[in-house]
Amino acid sequence: MSICPKNKSSKSHRDQRRANWKMSVPNLVKCSKCGALTLPHRVCKACGTYNKRQVVQVED
Ligand SMILES: [Zn+2]
Repeated sequence: MSICPKNKSSKSHRDQRRANWKMSVPNLVKCSKCGALTLPHRVCKACGTYNKRQVVQVED
């Protein structure tokens, strides 16, 4: 079952509701091996390490 709105929200009402949707700055940590900025709990894209261990081979 889905909700069934009784009245249409006006553009203003809808936009006011969305007015405080803000982009958040992604959390970045420095790779312990190469120092590149990466997302925490992710394999480093630059060198393919995670937890100071090579986990993926980086091509090129
Ligand atoms: Zn790295």
